[in-house]
Amino acid sequence: MTVGLITGAGAGIGRAIALRLAANGMDLALVDIDADAAAETADQVRAAGRRALPIGADVSRAEEVDRAVARAEGELGPVEAFVANAGIEGVVGPIWDYSDDVFEKVWSVNTRGVFLGIKYVSQRMITRGGGAIVVMASTSAIRGREANAGYVSSKHAALGLARVAALDLAPYNIRVNAVLPGPIETRMIRSLFAQHEQRGRTSTPKSARKLGQPEDVAGVVAFLLSDEARHVNGASWVIDGGNTID
Ligand code: NAD
Repeated sequence: MTVGLITGAGAGIGRAIALRLAANGMDLALVDIDADAAAETADQVRAAGRRALPIGADVSRAEEVDRAVARAEGELGPVEAFVANAGIEGVVGPIWDYSDDVFEKVWSVNTRGVFLGIKYVSQRMITRGGGAIVVMASTSAIRGREANAGYVSSKHAALGLARVAALDLAPYNIRVNAVLPGPIETRMIRSLFAQHEQRGRTSTPKSARKLGQPEDVAGVVAFLLSDEARHVNGASWVIDGGNTID
């Protein structure tokens, strides 16, 4: 596999995935709403010896996603690997008091963003008869969390989208899998735990006794995109140090 496209590639888990895929020999389109952050990741990918194309785009807007995929293919070549990683948090309060606007915003990125990415990437993959896709869900896709209606429901839906896509795209030799990280040490989780100290304590896996690192997720994503995982389709890979079963 030679060309990949990653959304939310300007920071955290998305950047770690970019560096891991570059180390594996992939050229990369790096999409982020923060164009400067995408450009920084691109510099690091180039330093690793691969081609990189930073693209400023909002994954919740169909025309921007379509344009980003077209640009990636025009400048780098056919996208064979896609990681729908961009996502935002939304802890604001209990459901009776949860802001309608935050709910809509979180769904627009975490769910519609995943739908649009898969739609516009897979249209092109279908014409070439192959590809691999990974959806960044969360352990919040398979469990409840208090005061987090937007995020938890959006991640349940993202997992559902991955499963539908796995079935729809299987006839075209395109695999779709989801990864479900527990708390991973990035800006997102640091700001969440700073606001909700109790959540930080109860979310740290007792089994691993530490938070996960972005690289812990990147390795699994790289495997799922590789030919080693050719018989893995529609799967949900929990990456949480054992927290969910604790
Ligand atoms: P992060 O905040 O460090 O990075 C997210 C990146 O996505 C940022 O560069 C941001 O600019 C970009 N982004 C945000 N909205 C966007 C949009 N509309 N269009 C394009 N780019 C956008 O977060 P992270 O912790 O690296 O999270 C990455 C993904 O992993 C998210 O989907 C998140 O829900 C998921 N996840 C994170 C954790 C965790 O503990 N950090 C756990 C489970 C799942």
